[in-house]
Amino acid sequence: MPLRLYNSLTRSKEDLGPLAPPRVGLYTCGPTVYNYQHVGNYRTYVFEDLLVRTLKLLGYAPYRVMNVTDVGHLTSQGDEGEDKMEVGAAREGKTAWEVAAFYTDAFLADSKALNLLPPEVLCRATDHIPEQIELVRRLEAKGLTYRTSDGVYFDTAKLPDYGKLMPREHLEGLRSGARVEANPEKKHATDFALWKFAPPDAKRQMEWDSPWGRGFPGWHAECSAMAMKFLGETFDVHCGGVDHIPVHHTNEIAQSEGATGKPFARVWLHGEFLLMNSAKMAKSAGGFVKLSDLADKGFSPLDYRYHCFTAHYRKQLDFTWESLESSKTARRRLCEAARAAAAEPPKPNCAEFSARFREALADDLNAPAALAVVWDALKSDLPGGAKRAFLEEAESVLALDLFAPAPDDAVPAEVAELLAVRDAARKNKDFAESDRLRKAVEDLGWTVKDGKDGAKAVKK
Ligand code: AMP
Ligand code: ZN
Repeated sequence: MPLRLYNSLTRSKEDLGPLAPPRVGLYTCGPTVYNYQHVGNYRTYVFEDLLVRTLKLLGYAPYRVMNVTDVGHLTSQGDEGEDKMEVGAAREGKTAWEVAAFYTDAFLADSKALNLLPPEVLCRATDHIPEQIELVRRLEAKGLTYRTSDGVYFDTAKLPDYGKLMPREHLEGLRSGARVEANPEKKHATDFALWKFAPPDAKRQMEWDSPWGRGFPGWHAECSAMAMKFLGETFDVHCGGVDHIPVHHTNEIAQSEGATGKPFARVWLHGEFLLMNSAKMAKSAGGFVKLSDLADKGFSPLDYRYHCFTAHYRKQLDFTWESLESSKTARRRLCEAARAAAAEPPKPNCAEFSARFREALADDLNAPAALAVVWDALKSDLPGGAKRAFLEEAESVLALDLFAPAPDDAVPAEVAELLAVRDAARKNKDFAESDRLRKAVEDLGWTVKDGKDGAKAVKK
């Protein structure tokens, strides 16, 4: 079954036609390791993991490269401001290298907890400085660069199709310098740094010699250099969050295609934002939620993974604790059903549900539709063994630990739901209803303990 994906470059859904099937060369922009990643970042990584697992289910052989940005990502998208790594080092009283190592490890631990498959190649920007310098040399040899007092810049006016990843009006807006241009030496508002000179007055920890002077690479250079090193000058799919369309990915395309004269990634996929209080969840916004914050409130990282699947990756998703609670209950129900089915002898997989599940995912990774098929299968009169076989297939993509043994103190979904309804009754001061629900919970073998975060159930 071919996989149809929405390609941001052509702004249409297309059948995936890899260059060397079944292999699919895939590049996904990774974390900037100056702080913890927030659950918004992880929404993008979960969508990319869904892509990798769907490719495998449909018979492709994904080969994925992910970078770790440990230099050059400045606090402003316009190549101004401080390097985020140096900001992190000053904040924590550590070296930039120590900060990078610490948050890379934190990212890898979180990724494991979310059942994200590790990429085939995980590459650090600081391990690929010569490759980035070589890219800038190629661009310079083609006359696509110019120097200013603070760096070497890409001249975007020299590339006729510059900005093709975004709608024309958006590009016009950037060109007309809708943003106040902080660097008067830049020829055009859209020009971007390929190499920045080490500022004489500020002591940077991360800098290298280059043909243009001591300094560090521009942020976009790393992804072009490493994608082409590990996947070739033209490859199949490139992913990231929608915030990367106008600057980071647009500039990756410009410098890669400028250097090689060949198409860079053939398909571009972009995941929409996780919102908090109606705005993009962002580290700069202060109140961001880390994966460890979920555990502190009694959620498994996989409850959040389930939550990500409740919206299509191209739709915005709101983060609220209430909606996460619903996802937690839903996942708990699925796990209970899977464990019950696993007790049955296996039967052949049910072709109808399996086909519907694959069709949902093959249609631009429609996770909510795929989840609906799973619920339909559970509600159906399929024998337990056939449900088991289907759920095993679904688990290979959903990766929600459906078959993991229940922890001894796991509260069944039925009890959790009664508690939620009872909490609502208490809020409405309906104490008769609240007492009735307490009794219903006790009849199921649990005791209700009221606390300031609501009621909890403890096994009798
Ligand atoms: P960063 O560490 O800032 O480079 O971001 C890592 C990835 O997370 C990128 O692909 C971003 O596009 C993505 N991202 C950042 N904020 C959000 C958000 N609120 N929702 C979804 N993805 C995001
Ligand atoms: Zn990137």
